[in-house]
Amino acid sequence: MTTDPTSDAWRPAARVRSFHPSVFSAMTELAQRTGAINLGQGFPDTDGPELLLKYAAEALHDGRNQYPPAAGLPELREALAEHQERHGLRYGPEEVVVTTGATEAIAAAVLAYCGPGERLLTFDPCYDSYAAVAALAGAELVAVPLVPDGDGFALDAEALRAAAAARPARMLLLNSPHNPTGKAFTGAELEQIAAVCREFDLVVVTDEVYEHLVYDGRPHRSIAALPEMRDRTVVVSSAGKTLNATGWKVGWAIGPTRLTGPLLGAKQFLTFGSGTPLQYAVAQTLRSGPAFEEWVRSLRDGLRERRDLLRTGLGEAGLRTFRAEGGYFVLADVRSWNFEDDLEFCHRLPELAGVVAVPVSAFHQTPGAPRWLARFAFCKRPELLREAVSRLAAV
Ligand code: PMP
Ligand code: GLN
Repeated sequence: MTTDPTSDAWRPAARVRSFHPSVFSAMTELAQRTGAINLGQGFPDTDGPELLLKYAAEALHDGRNQYPPAAGLPELREALAEHQERHGLRYGPEEVVVTTGATEAIAAAVLAYCGPGERLLTFDPCYDSYAAVAALAGAELVAVPLVPDGDGFALDAEALRAAAAARPARMLLLNSPHNPTGKAFTGAELEQIAAVCREFDLVVVTDEVYEHLVYDGRPHRSIAALPEMRDRTVVVSSAGKTLNATGWKVGWAIGPTRLTGPLLGAKQFLTFGSGTPLQYAVAQTLRSGPAFEEWVRSLRDGLRERRDLLRTGLGEAGLRTFRAEGGYFVLADVRSWNFEDDLEFCHRLPELAGVVAVPVSAFHQTPGAPRWLARFAFCKRPELLREAVSRLAAV
């Protein structure tokens, strides 16, 4: 191949031309370069349950190191079907597809259901991979704004219905609890979304990676549990958030085989399968009964305290914040510090305070969307959060 960098031979395909390193990689790199506290990329700085690590080590040494079946290890598919019952949903193991993180489940779903030019509805802001996989599929992403409402964000059901009515869409991609806003959609909102999906016959993919991280006694609600929704819905989640193992990339998609079959079709040519010993360890941990329940309870309680610590600290530093009902993140209004632009705020923050946050504009899809929100992660050790908020308060 030619070594001339200006040659047309080097031109990437249109579908990836606008891709650049994700905001998470960029912000982690900024934290490493400046030595700032990284409240940008959402990953915990402590390990998951001891049991999980023990099972993984055992699996590595017991020769569980070859390809898993493409749909996942049978013991994990069974454990996940059982795990789903806590949300009032019954599935058989044949309805479960294990994926390389929730990211692959979402990508395989979009590739499976949305052809070139077909429309995919979601909310704005949304997790960064949604727009990217829509671009890979050649699909059109239509993002309906979530509306700032007091210290939270609200669904605009009229706007969702109008978007669905404007031109036929194939799929709705929902995320609750929501990254980056911290919103957990209410039962009434999910009902309104479900009504639109029934009326316009949409497939629903619901990204519930924070299913166990809903705070203040609220239950986690899955849209799949609403009347007539199970048959049109694929539930996506991941062990990353539930077991403090974001680097393991063990995720899954659960739904009727009519939907998960095509998803598996796409998934098998993306990765086929991955992480046999890790799948085994996740299965054993999910099936550890009281030990798993106790882990989840303490994880959730610990994160709720850290959320409060961070939100209070940001408030004391003079930043207006939004409530986080679930997930890992608190949003702050950068205009409180007289910044007009979240990108500028996030790029100045390491030098001003020795802290890194993520600009929410990286999650926005619509031109008029707010550019004045910064996302701070609280899935970090309390002493680190205390140091971060004291630095911010000193600015
Ligand atoms: N969806 C959401 C809303 C997320 O926040 C994340 C990552 N934290 C993912 C999907 C990706 O999950 P995974 O790392 O399991 O691919
Ligand atoms: N989901 C994580 C976040 O929102 C990051 C995942 C990633 O780096 N791809 O921060």
